[in-house]
Amino acid sequence: MVVELISVGTEILLGNIVNTNAAYLSERCAELGLSMYYQGVVGDNAERLRDMIETAKSRADIIILGGGLGPTKDDLTKEIAAEAMGFQLVEDEHTKQRIRDYLETRGFEITENNWKQALVPEGGIVVDNENGTAPGIIMEKEGKHVILLPGPPNELKPMFENQIYPYLNALEPGIIYSKTVKVCGVGESKAETMISDLIDAQTNPTIATYAKTGEVHLRVTAKAEDEKEAKKLVKPMVKELKNRFGNHIYTTDTDITLEKSIIDLLKANELTVSTVESCTGGMLSARITDVPGASEVFKSGYVTYSNKSKRKLVGVKKSTLDKHGAVSSNVAKEMANGAAMFTKADVTVSITGIAGPDGGSEEKPVGLVYIACHVCGNTVVKEYHFKGNRSKIREATVSAALILMRECILEHCSNVMFGNH
Ligand code: ATP
Ligand code: MG
Repeated sequence: MVVELISVGTEILLGNIVNTNAAYLSERCAELGLSMYYQGVVGDNAERLRDMIETAKSRADIIILGGGLGPTKDDLTKEIAAEAMGFQLVEDEHTKQRIRDYLETRGFEITENNWKQALVPEGGIVVDNENGTAPGIIMEKEGKHVILLPGPPNELKPMFENQIYPYLNALEPGIIYSKTVKVCGVGESKAETMISDLIDAQTNPTIATYAKTGEVHLRVTAKAEDEKEAKKLVKPMVKELKNRFGNHIYTTDTDITLEKSIIDLLKANELTVSTVESCTGGMLSARITDVPGASEVFKSGYVTYSNKSKRKLVGVKKSTLDKHGAVSSNVAKEMANGAAMFTKADVTVSITGIAGPDGGSEEKPVGLVYIACHVCGNTVVKEYHFKGNRSKIREATVSAALILMRECILEHCSNVMFGNH
């Protein structure tokens, strides 16, 4: 089936907000096996919105509209969409009660325009909103399905996830099952090359690649009559990906992040970790401690931004700083080793680099970063050259540090296992 997406809101046209709803909905629709050929953005304007809906109706089976379901006059998605589909708006007692309950429990005053949100198309499907007052709406007529969703992402996403996704999934017989293989330490283009034959030959299951900072996620999706059949289709493909990417795969579980997988790895091997950061100012320790249960393995996180703190807190030698500069492999190494000595953590990771926009030179340009990882007496230092603005460089650095840490822990564990230590 063909789906078309229309994001409604002048704010999106003006660039005041980023259309994250579109990115989310597109990804989920692809996962459902729906074909999306067009998507659009339109301001809060009745005529142009009507135009967009009419055009979408002429070429899609499903039209998803996001935004413009609020209580104010400029919110007109529901009114225009109902008119375009030939539905009358009527007051819905159930929705009215839900709006009343929602506002009263939060101590908000109810104003007359709130009841605009209780108007629903007669004969349409009302989708309760668990996180706001505007209900979602589904209208079906002559093989066309028009779905209206509230604009705020914290309302749209759970509504789509819990109510709309199953609705769309049921429109076509069969079920969709997918598994995500998460790869780290392999660039996106390399990863795609490694599986280009699989991508070229794909039918069912399909493989989609999603690039994240420092990671590539490969989603294998199959469509079949029932879950058992779909799983049977997905399994050999996942196995093939495991053969190709080996140790670079850190999980095949959607809910597990890179940092979570590392914490699990540390726990399983009874190892502890400390961090010493310069240009990332604590972002690495923040990502590690974002994971519930990190306290079992995480000891200390130093932010040694100045040369003085590098010396005082983790014992970097003045002579090393003078000779090689703060951004150098020697300093990175001393930072990691010093943290190991002071905190007695089994694993220590250090970061020193130039995040920019200033501070670069020909010899040491912006984006130059050294990351060291010390595991039980062995220290590895790597040099990186990241591109982009300050925040991109810092984000890429944190991911690289996690990936290096994972590699060093795996290396250590295999040495221990094979008695090379
Ligand atoms: P409200 O009841 O808040 O008016 P609404 O359904 O009318 O909700 P909009 O007014 O279009 O939706 O948007 C409300 C807010 O939701 C926007 O200010 C923005 O923060 C967020 N939002 C809307 N559309 C998008 C989008 N496409 N992507 C990301 N955020 C969005
Ligand atoms: Mg609004």
